Amino acid sequence: MQNYDDFRIEPFILRNKSFYVKRDELLDPLLSGNKYWKLYALIQTPKERYKQLVSYGGTQSNAMLSMAALCHDKGWDFHYTSKPVPAYLKEQPSGNLSKALDLGMVLHEVGHDDYADCVQHLREDRDTESLFVPQGGADPMAQTGIEQLAGEIKQWQQAQHIKRLNIVTPSGTGTTAYYLAQALPECHILTTAVVGDKAYLREQMEMLGELPENLTILEGSKKYHFAKPYVELLDMYHDLLDAGIAFDLIYGAVMWKVLLQHHNMMEDTVLYIHSGGLLGNASMLDRYKHQRML
Ligand SMILES: *Cc1c(COP(=O)(O)O)cnc(C)c1O
Repeated sequence: MQNYDDFRIEPFILRNKSFYVKRDELLDPLLSGNKYWKLYALIQTPKERYKQLVSYGGTQSNAMLSMAALCHDKGWDFHYTSKPVPAYLKEQPSGNLSKALDLGMVLHEVGHDDYADCVQHLREDRDTESLFVPQGGADPMAQTGIEQLAGEIKQWQQAQHIKRLNIVTPSGTGTTAYYLAQALPECHILTTAVVGDKAYLREQMEMLGELPENLTILEGSKKYHFAKPYVELLDMYHDLLDAGIAFDLIYGAVMWKVLLQHHNMMEDTVLYIHSGGLLGNASMLDRYKHQRML
């Protein structure tokens, strides 16, 4: 077997089926997977350009941790607004939250009723030295980095003489899948809605522009609630691990389950883009243990 170290693309066999995986989870421990590409334009931005970054969202979010790491590197203040943190998490911050706080993130908790207004203010009240990044990094700013990712895929595809390529990656906001589809019109981009349902994902993507024709939102036979423990997802995670690669329990496990359900209908080569998020697994595995599923 040959490895393609430049772009971290390797063959991967799962349940006797052949895939390729782009190992972008290996890019950096904190700023990894698709968050690396979504924040790529900011990674390239000189420190002097901003003093602070402002964002909001969930307190175990991978995007939050990536932004905290970026701000730590740049010496920017990082202000993050969330809904109230659950008491158990506050007493003993774990996973992404504890790492982000260690990296200097300033957390602002806002009551449920005031949250929407507060986010609106954050969006509007910026000066030139303060940058606002929407939840999950769902921003046109992500396009530059995703185009870079697309360039790597294209070069690999040409070197391998692969005529028709399916590219698979899970969606939260859909930003990654959307810009990938735009940048690679001759490839077929397959994703699934992990956060809400298909209609919600479509809405999120339409905020970025018209839906590209080469983008398909796959659905599985079962719908999982976001970030909740399920025995099937834990089994999927272990199967993937046994096959040689760790994926995240929230997005990766769901995407692989859906992908395997549709795989028989796919004739062309499948390339899975690893979207990172492995540091979130520790707190998810704790929850599985807590619920005695592990
Ligand atoms: C953020 C994230 C996603 C979703 O990316 P979007 O661009 O918001 O669709 C998928 N997988 C992992 C592991 C993530 O952290």
